[in-house]
Amino acid sequence: MRGYGLRGQVVSFSMRLRPLISLGCTFLCAFALAQDDGIGDPTFPTLGNKGYKATHYLLKLNYDPETAQLKANVTMEGVVDPSPLSTLSVDFSGFTVSAVKLNGASATFTRSGAKLRVKPASPLAAGSKFALETIYSGKPELIGSAALPPIYKGGWVAYPGGAVAACEPDMSHGWFPCNDHPLNKATFDVEITAPRPYVTVSNGIGKTIGPTTTHFTLDKPALTCMVTVAVGKYGILKQVGPNSLPITNYVPLGTETQYIEPLQVTPKFIQYLSDRIGPYPFASYGTITFPDEASKSNKLLEVMALETTSIPLFSPGSSKDAATLCHELTHQWMGDCVSVTNWGDDIWWVEGFAQYSEFMLAEMNGGKAAYDAAIKAAYASVSAQSHWLKPGHLPAADMFSLRSYIGGALTFHALRKKLGDEKFFQVVRQFVDKHRYGNASVKDWIEIATQVAGEDMKPFFDTWLYGDAVPKLPS
Ligand SMILES: [Zn+2]
Repeated sequence: MRGYGLRGQVVSFSMRLRPLISLGCTFLCAFALAQDDGIGDPTFPTLGNKGYKATHYLLKLNYDPETAQLKANVTMEGVVDPSPLSTLSVDFSGFTVSAVKLNGASATFTRSGAKLRVKPASPLAAGSKFALETIYSGKPELIGSAALPPIYKGGWVAYPGGAVAACEPDMSHGWFPCNDHPLNKATFDVEITAPRPYVTVSNGIGKTIGPTTTHFTLDKPALTCMVTVAVGKYGILKQVGPNSLPITNYVPLGTETQYIEPLQVTPKFIQYLSDRIGPYPFASYGTITFPDEASKSNKLLEVMALETTSIPLFSPGSSKDAATLCHELTHQWMGDCVSVTNWGDDIWWVEGFAQYSEFMLAEMNGGKAAYDAAIKAAYASVSAQSHWLKPGHLPAADMFSLRSYIGGALTFHALRKKLGDEKFFQVVRQFVDKHRYGNASVKDWIEIATQVAGEDMKPFFDTWLYGDAVPKLPS
């Protein structure tokens, strides 16, 4: 994620916002814990369910921007694991649920807080597969997150003339029932119907299947919060990336010519990253730049760029900025392909490496001098403070702060200085390759870095991730 403008310059999303507010987890704690609540993330204790794994979602959506009404039929396929389940709970809030079917049969359900609980006629056996179909409709309601100041709300964001879903880190359950945590990545099919002349788009490869319906398939596992849908009036700009990668950019209708030149950096940086950290991980790429009407109606959309899988979202104009384009592109490897195990302990390497890629972009364009200048400026911004950013363990309210972005990026710079270019990129490549389409954690970074360096790298990571003192910048 990345953000814009509150201090007149392009900076990471909440590094401008975070000092303004300390939200804590008040809204999450408002609901009594049920036995099946919580996948085990200490930062978001009630989020998700560890009693099953969703493997695939089919979202059939019908949205009318004129009335802002969404009709949905969502099927979650999954496997019960590790114990039998007498109740199947999913994260979900809002809408009117008209029916729930479990394995094709009508099922009774209850709703409380942000959970929908389904009662099977008899417990679901451990290891058994299931299909949970939820049929619902209504006007989408925005939801908040403990990771964002209260003025920023996301989920399915309707605006005059369209809608876009923006959900990191825990707002997808505001528009579809899901196991809303990165530990449960799944594949997605999204079928969207909207009246003409609205264009519809989601993650992955799309095709038209009816006069007003498109079908998108994402065949690699994705985070629920990195699934998006956009409905609006868009023009399309196509590009071709390395290895014939199809790239489709959606920009506000009538503004296409403004984006042709700025978007040229995308194929170039895909190649640059592929040469250093491994091949681009998905079957397609693209961008969605939503229109002014969207950002004027929602504070989050006003400042945001977000790495939705294979098709990141950009606020108006932000996709004209090469650093932001490359930041969200880099997340496709770091964050989307390899994802956090828990938010608070792992967000530093997700945002830190995406931020670091902006220094790599400076290096690609301006060589070592430009890279060094960017690092020097970043370090100067934090070294004057009395204590280090300690990015390694962050509360929800600090997840998208200076701590993760700059603290993480400088940690990667220091690692590169310590190991040298060849071994540094070998570590990153091995990390992405080993954990491709899965989840990883700090211990995985330490393990691979130690193996490549030939020495115990835990002290290095302890200093940069958890130490109180401002670490000395390696020369
Ligand atoms: Zn980011």
